[in-house]
Amino acid sequence: MNIEPFKERLRELESELSGRTTGVEGNSTVLQHVRDALERIRRGRFGKCVVDGGSIDAERLEAVPWTPYCLEHKDFLETGAPGGGNGATIVPVQD
Ligand SMILES: [Zn+2]
Repeated sequence: MNIEPFKERLRELESELSGRTTGVEGNSTVLQHVRDALERIRRGRFGKCVVDGGSIDAERLEAVPWTPYCLEHKDFLETGAPGGGNGATIVPVQD
């Protein structure tokens, strides 16, 4: 999988969100996810689920490029992340 387009998008998102974050909880939560995703790119782990190491669907990455979870573990994002699911612009893919 070519991760260059995702890298580009995540970098843009990071600068956009870090420039705009003024105490808005949703933005800072997404910003954290974006930074985590960039870190995974640096480590060569982008596109792999952090729970089971499985590949994350390209379609899912298109929709949520910073997601660290495959479809099977996507609920972790809403229930396991600090402040997750609380006004953040995370759009889980419905089954
Ligand atoms: Zn998984």
